[in-house]
Amino acid sequence: MSENVSMKSVSSSSLDSTGHTQSDSDLSSMALHSETVVDLVGAGPGDPGLLTVAACSCLKHADIIIYDYLASEAVLRFGRKDAERHFVGKKGFSHHVTQDQINDLLVDCAKQHPGSHIVRLKGGDPFVFGRGGEEALALHQAGIRFRIIPGVTAGIAAPAYAGIPVTHRGISSSVTLVTGHEMAGKPETAINWHALAQSSDTLCFYMGIRDLPRIVDRLCAFGRDPKTPIALVRWGTTPQQEVLVATLETVVERVHTTGFSAPAIIVVGDVVSLHKQLSWYQRQPLAGTTVVVTRARAQASEVSYLIRSHGGQAIEYPTISIAPRAAQELEPTCVRLAQPNGYDWVVFTSANGVRCFFDQIKELGYDARLLGSVRVAAIGPATAQELVLHGIHADLVPPRFIAESVAVELINAGVGQDTHVLLARASEARATLPDTLASVGATVDIVPLYDTVIPEDEQATSELVKQLKAHSIDAVLFSSSSTVRNFLTRLDRAVGSSERCALLRSVALMSIGPVTSQTIHEAGLCETAQAEHYTITGLVAALEATVGTKGQRSL
Ligand code: SAH
Repeated sequence: MSENVSMKSVSSSSLDSTGHTQSDSDLSSMALHSETVVDLVGAGPGDPGLLTVAACSCLKHADIIIYDYLASEAVLRFGRKDAERHFVGKKGFSHHVTQDQINDLLVDCAKQHPGSHIVRLKGGDPFVFGRGGEEALALHQAGIRFRIIPGVTAGIAAPAYAGIPVTHRGISSSVTLVTGHEMAGKPETAINWHALAQSSDTLCFYMGIRDLPRIVDRLCAFGRDPKTPIALVRWGTTPQQEVLVATLETVVERVHTTGFSAPAIIVVGDVVSLHKQLSWYQRQPLAGTTVVVTRARAQASEVSYLIRSHGGQAIEYPTISIAPRAAQELEPTCVRLAQPNGYDWVVFTSANGVRCFFDQIKELGYDARLLGSVRVAAIGPATAQELVLHGIHADLVPPRFIAESVAVELINAGVGQDTHVLLARASEARATLPDTLASVGATVDIVPLYDTVIPEDEQATSELVKQLKAHSIDAVLFSSSSTVRNFLTRLDRAVGSSERCALLRSVALMSIGPVTSQTIHEAGLCETAQAEHYTITGLVAALEATVGTKGQRSL
């Protein structure tokens, strides 16, 4: 297959007409060949959401990933856990690894791992000041098949996140991407400063912070108005984004006084004046805040998404992992459920419980009809939603999403003497619900579906401790009592309880509801705020109200 043909298969098969990914195996079709393929992949400017579908698919299938410092950890997470990783970081001007060494590494990797899929991940777009062309030439010369997956370049994306459109009707009809750091030994005339200053409305300089005084000098010397607005966007599209707005005549002084540093895009032109009205990113409610999500990994993505879509940074630090019980333990319960009048009610107290229940009954050869004649209660909307995924609409979801409220509602719905209730839940749970139901005469059976265990990941804990010490964590979200207990246990194991107290002193402790708050009190701490509605959305709303005023740095 020629390179052209295979490129076609990348673009046509990775997306269907609705923009959804088709079978990812399409993009990894090289696995069918014994030929090695090196993909030069644009990682985008920082926000993992700006990764292209094709880039994501390449990462998912890569055997080897070679990346540098602009490729964020969040992007790397799309790669396989078992993929071999090589860091060839280049930071500022202190090159750790030379370009020739990187070219050699790419060629050597390809030769030493025949049939493998290698991804060379580069910040932004590989062909925009990314030296992707040089790497592609080295591969071409070595006869190694390669593909180019373009990425969203920082020169466009960083201004966009700062609310600066690089072109704008009536203000700018041209934009030029320029290097602010010319190659050593290159003659000074490599950039046509006259043309640059005079003919392009918007200029986006990459790698220009160190040479800013020279850039400003040249532009003014070649006729650009010293009053022209200029913006510097540092770590654009990431929660660390900073924007400095000035004019050509004031910017050098402003950089000096604020200590503004690389990496940043420099935008010159009248479009910069739109920043005042259009700076959407830094106005998001959680802009500039970093929040720890303590839920089990499988459930964290929803809350992380909520945080990120409101402009915050979510750090997933799971304190719970779900260990489902063996399906056989559920067999006697299934037998009883299958009998007419076996149970009157089944109560699910978590989405995890629902998932485990249906996995286990499936393994035993049953399906949703097992609940055909029984009424079903869910503790809250997330549990009810999980039930819907398995074809069951809950008969009862209480207005307050805690055990006490389910008990009251069940009793209102007729639970009492001569009713049989099955409580399908975690092995460890409060006695409130069964005790209350038993007190009105109901027979309550409890079936443990899963155990919750504390994940062992010391590296994640030491990373978190580092961030707490650096005061870069604004809040921790607790969505259940066990997240509180396990979070504190993990920290105590790492640093001891007295240092843990000091580390959490300036961190907002956010509680999903009264039971979780109570557990926080029992640990000798105090919640900073409690959700009004005891749901994840309620928790994020409370977070916004508490820490959401921080805002991003606009200098
Ligand atoms: N290939 C990359 C550019 C690499 S050159 C791309 O297409 O975006 C490295 C320079 O890009 C940095 O010095 C800085 O000027 C700019 N840059 C990269 N990521 C950036 C970001 N998130 N915010 C601001 N500037 C960034």
